[in-house]
Amino acid sequence: MLDLLIHNATLPDGRNHMSVAVQGGRITEVTQGFTPEAATASEVVDAGGMLLSSPFVDAHFHMDATLSLGLPRLNQSGTLLEGIALWGELKPHLTFEALVDRALAYCDWAVANGLLAIRSHVDTSDPSMLAVEALLAVKKKVAPYIDLQLVAFPQDGVLRNGGDGTRGVPGGFDNLKKALSLGVDVVGGIPHFERTMADGAASVKLLCELAAEQGKLVDMHCDESDDPLSRHVETLAFETNRLGLHGRVTGSHLTSMHSMDNYYVSKLLPLMAEAQLSVVSNPLINISLQGRHDTYPKRRGMTRVPEIMAAGMTVAFGQDCCMDPWYSMGSGDMLEVASMGLHVAQMTSQPAMQQCFDAVTKNPARILHLEGYGLEKGCHADLVLLQAQNPIEAIRLKATRLKVWRRGALVAQTPARTAALSLPDRPVSTSFLHTK
Ligand SMILES: [Zn+2]
Repeated sequence: MLDLLIHNATLPDGRNHMSVAVQGGRITEVTQGFTPEAATASEVVDAGGMLLSSPFVDAHFHMDATLSLGLPRLNQSGTLLEGIALWGELKPHLTFEALVDRALAYCDWAVANGLLAIRSHVDTSDPSMLAVEALLAVKKKVAPYIDLQLVAFPQDGVLRNGGDGTRGVPGGFDNLKKALSLGVDVVGGIPHFERTMADGAASVKLLCELAAEQGKLVDMHCDESDDPLSRHVETLAFETNRLGLHGRVTGSHLTSMHSMDNYYVSKLLPLMAEAQLSVVSNPLINISLQGRHDTYPKRRGMTRVPEIMAAGMTVAFGQDCCMDPWYSMGSGDMLEVASMGLHVAQMTSQPAMQQCFDAVTKNPARILHLEGYGLEKGCHADLVLLQAQNPIEAIRLKATRLKVWRRGALVAQTPARTAALSLPDRPVSTSFLHTK
């Protein structure tokens, strides 16, 4: 007997009248026209033709800063640099309990939104490892319902923050290594925040060598500025090739690529593709933080998503921030993230809009190296039923998550969005779905 049978569902690839059977937390069958009469199941759900997807995945987040908006004050300039300064002001006041409480509250929102896997950076600059210990505790606590992957993120730099680990001074590099030894999964970095271009490049080399040595994945904040000469992604790709880290390295943000010379980019893209770099763009944050030094015209400051995809690389859209020193908005809704990415990158063709949905589902799953993700026999029964008929409509409506399952168990549900109407000669309600 099955644990769960969902029938009459549409899948993201367009197949409809599909049934998904679940047993022991795994998908045991995905077939067309499989009816409830054909099998017995403890729970049978009629999807009503709506979209059934694998869960959303966020490849870039900061769970140590989330929901801290206004502590100790608000960001007045709206810039990345004031956000970093503000986070520095907040850090001495952080407590283990408050960090855990805020992170768990965000995870509640995530689950309600069908977001069941998150890669979060955690600031390793503080030698006390307070934020690291807190997020490791959160990772353990949420493991039954969220895959939380942690990146050792040296917010204050590895070289500018008190030495490079060879000078006998506990510095940014030592603190990062300590975080890895405590159980943090991925090597981070922030080369554009080091004092000079040369130090930035040196930090990329140092961190990639560490990852190679320890067999870790890499995900660096890289070139998060409007400076067309910020080219650390070139070093990241070069080091990835040199150390044989192909498919294991991610460049996050890469906003300077928006402003780079086109000839240089024509040379850069093949180098990045050769290294099989993955890219995470964070549309909500990039459109808010970049271009702040411009008058008009004001640059969008998001990296070249369609061009990077066309070069064969895996690109994801990340949330990055939610109600923190950098960004006052957000709710863990990856469809809002996809919608912003679609608009800023002008990805408006039908295939491009479909790619925007992939950028918050299967692409980030690949970047996180998630095991058992997908809508195939044998995959984990992690599923989201959306009040939309296809992925494009899901993005357009930021569709209601009707039901969210984790390992075949229902973990969240939301009533369908329907407005009652009182209009002459018109239907009594609408749910915003497009009927042809
Ligand atoms: Zn970030």
